[in-house]
Amino acid sequence: MSIETRRFDTLILGAGGGGLRAALQLARAEAHVAVVSKVFPTRSHTVAAQGGVNAALANVTPDNWHWHMYDTVKGSDYLGDQDAIEYMCRAASHLVYELEHAGVPFSRLDSGRIYQRPFGGQSRDFGGAQATRTCAAADRTGHAILHTLYQQNIRARTHFFDEYFAIDLIRDGEGAILGALTLDIATGEPLVIEAKTTLIATGGCGQLYRTTTNAHINTGDGMAMALRAGIPLQDMEFFQFHPTGIAGKGMLITEGARGEGGYLVNKDGERFMERYAPNAKDLASRDVVSRAIAIEVREGRGCGPRGDHVLLKLDHLGSDIVAKRLPGIRETCRTFLHIDPADTPIPVFPTAHYVMGGIPTDRFGRVVVPHGESPEEEVPGLYAAGECACVSVHGANRLGGNSLLDILVFGRAAANHILGFLKKNRYHRPPNQEGIDRAMARLTRWEKTGDGETVEAVRADLKQAMEDHCGVFRTEEIMREGVEQIRAIRARIPDVRLRDQSKVFNTARVEALELENLADIAIATMHSAEARKESRGAHSRVDYPERDDAHWMKHSLYSLETDSLDYKPVRTKPMSVESFPPKERVY
Ligand SMILES: Cc1cc2nc3c(=O)[nH]c(=O)nc-3n(C[C@H](O)[C@H](O)[C@H](O)COP(=O)(O)OP(=O)(O)OC[C@H]3O[C@@H](n4cnc5c(N)ncnc54)[C@H](O)[C@@H]3O)c2cc1C
Repeated sequence: MSIETRRFDTLILGAGGGGLRAALQLARAEAHVAVVSKVFPTRSHTVAAQGGVNAALANVTPDNWHWHMYDTVKGSDYLGDQDAIEYMCRAASHLVYELEHAGVPFSRLDSGRIYQRPFGGQSRDFGGAQATRTCAAADRTGHAILHTLYQQNIRARTHFFDEYFAIDLIRDGEGAILGALTLDIATGEPLVIEAKTTLIATGGCGQLYRTTTNAHINTGDGMAMALRAGIPLQDMEFFQFHPTGIAGKGMLITEGARGEGGYLVNKDGERFMERYAPNAKDLASRDVVSRAIAIEVREGRGCGPRGDHVLLKLDHLGSDIVAKRLPGIRETCRTFLHIDPADTPIPVFPTAHYVMGGIPTDRFGRVVVPHGESPEEEVPGLYAAGECACVSVHGANRLGGNSLLDILVFGRAAANHILGFLKKNRYHRPPNQEGIDRAMARLTRWEKTGDGETVEAVRADLKQAMEDHCGVFRTEEIMREGVEQIRAIRARIPDVRLRDQSKVFNTARVEALELENLADIAIATMHSAEARKESRGAHSRVDYPERDDAHWMKHSLYSLETDSLDYKPVRTKPMSVESFPPKERVY
């Protein structure tokens, strides 16, 4: 069967902030760019980002990129790569001003400058007083950024394939990536997109967990494609639980709510964060606050009839501040809880939010894998940026506001490197039928449905298993059981029954493909977590409560082909300044 084929200089998988920032850079330089997205671009999860983007603009308190770098290294629990962190923090102000000039409607201070709010883990002078570094458009910053980037791309004539689902990368015999096989969801027709360079920007995998702040589309497709192309995933044991998801439901209440002066209380009305983080209190780093809430609930100080959550108080801020700075939060609370947070505290509990791990890249966005003696060798033609990538700037724990920054900085960096690559590699590599056939096999397998359980049932079990066995607190026993459970759940997938074929066949196929992706990532996450016998950042082992720098200052790499783990060193040397050596992490 001959499959329709299109050719571009660069194929970008994903139209979130990461993909669109890269596309803009490329399209403005007259490269021939295709962006593929399984949903309409402005529905990508970046649209849901609330609190803001970090940059040391110093509009409210004194600040500079070097302090931002220190906070990020400390926040990462010293697992972040310091060259990439320096690069990101140095680039931040420039990228935010660029967005302002592109039309992002940032909130304003009385002086007319961009509004900034304090966020967790931000300090002045290398660990001193609270800094105010997060640039915000009310509590809808991601919405403002994504729409602006999309409009600018339309203007720059980026070519969009909306509602196309990327199935797998196409790889030749030498391991080079030649593009991807996609499915036009509307017609069910496959389309091969050949490209000299491919950038994976498919976002995160929050759908691994039952309670999550993430959209239904965040199924880690790009990460799973990388795994199947023989690329290991890095640091998958580090999954961030946001302290303030709406209890039992998962919708996010931005950290900006605490940045504006909100605070947490237990059933005795005690402001308990004072005990866990005497200086930063409610603005300690996310892993610290999430653990504190989980402990309060576990020790019987939770609120509500079941004692299963704590309360976030905003009622002392006044209706004006809530209306002006947190309008989206107010709307969310009204819709899902039927309360007004300006009068009534919000029930919250830690909720799956962000994957620190992902496809290993360097600070130019190149996908790099260990090869022989070398810890990092690039995969020809392949790049990754955004939440699906692991640069690693977030290490073991991401600071709020640093992800929007990450996608902008490394989306642009990858595009710049791609432009250099395109200058040197002017021709497409020859197409590779075997690579196309391999990818097609995945699609044709779902042309027929099994007669077992529904996709939905298997997906629900997978998410529950991750929630129960790979959550805020972890032990050997719980995770070992988890690995077995996930394997058993994965084995049920080939027989699943597709949903109502007559009406929605293509979307049903997409759901099955997403489930396969989630299962591969669940295995990677659970394995990496079971193997790391220490507590660092978001990875909290009850049986190994201390950080162990002597044995575990290293990145994990899970490979699907061999179903095994490897490790590589942390890049502790920054680009131009002194390294920040590991210290005890207190807030
Ligand atoms: C509720 C919420 C609030 C947040 N708030 C903040 C915040 O205030 N500050 C901050 O710094 N960070 C925040 N984050 C994190 C941050 O928003 C994300 O990490 C970031 O936006 C991810 O951007 P991205 O470009 O990597 O991916 P996304 O924006 O998730 O985009 C992924 C793209 O890939 C496409 N895609 C995926 N799979 C396929 C496939 N198989 N085929 C085709 N296309 C595919 C999707 O269609 C989409 O276009 C928040 C996250 C959430 C969930």
